[in-house]
Order: sequence, then structure tokens, then C-alpha cells
Amino acid sequence: MDECIFCRILRGEIPADVVYRDEHVTAFRDIEPMAPVHVLVIPNEHLASMQDVEERHEPTMGRLLRAARLVAESEGVSELGYRVTINTGRNGNQLVPHVHLHVMGGRVFGWPPG
Ligand code: 5GP
Ligand code: ZN
Repeated sequence: MDECIFCRILRGEIPADVVYRDEHVTAFRDIEPMAPVHVLVIPNEHLASMQDVEERHEPTMGRLLRAARLVAESEGVSELGYRVTINTGRNGNQLVPHVHLHVMGGRVFGWPPG
């Protein structure tokens, strides 16, 4: 996935403020934060959308969730709470076609989301 912006971040071609990285997943600060803490957690292997998640991706999806939790803790928002969001497709407002968890905290989020 040469042109995927998040794959380019993973390859170091675009700078990013990485807050967590392991063999399987990477987390970096959103360039346009919607909350005091706004981190994106992505798989190190390109996966375009939730709609492409197959059985073989189950370990990856679990690792993404665990990394989200670790990031929430290291960012200091786990005690008061935070929101994890996966935007999917057009109606879900997915703009970047590489699966990413938004981990947002540091303020109160309404429900339902806008
Ligand atoms: P989506 O709407 O696809 O769920 O969210 C994509 C997110 O990626 C947006 O919040 C946007 O601000 C963020 N983003 C887009 N391009 C870049 C980039 O080059 N670097 C970083 N750090 N975040 C980006
Ligand atoms: Zn990608």
C-alpha cells in the first residue's frame, strides 16, 4: 500500500508523534485532535476497513484494543474514562482507508455522537 498515508507513517516517510509501538500495532497522536488526548491506534499491516476484517485478523483486532487501553493509561485518561471509536465507511466518516482506533480522552463526550 504505497500511497496509504498511515502506511507511510509506519514506514517513517511522514513524521508522527508515536506514543506506542510493538510488533503488531502502532499508536500516534492525531494531527487534528478532537480532544486533549487523541491518539490513533493502527495495525502495522495494511487493512483498509472494518469491512475487511476476517477471522485471521482477530488477534490483530484484540491487540489494537489492548494497545488502546495501554495508551489510555499512559496518557492519564483511564481513570476518568475515554472513548474508542472506529469510523467505518462513508456514513461512518472514515476518511483514511487504514483501520484505526481513535482513543480520545481528557473531556466529556456526549451520547449519541453527532
Ligand atoms: P477517520 O475520519 O478516517 O476516522 O480519521 C482519520 C484521522 O486521521 C483524522 O482524525 C485525521 O485528523 C487523522 N490524520 C489524517 N492525516 C494524518 C496525518 O498525516 N498524521 C496524523 N497524525 N493524523 C492524521
Ligand atoms: Zn495502510
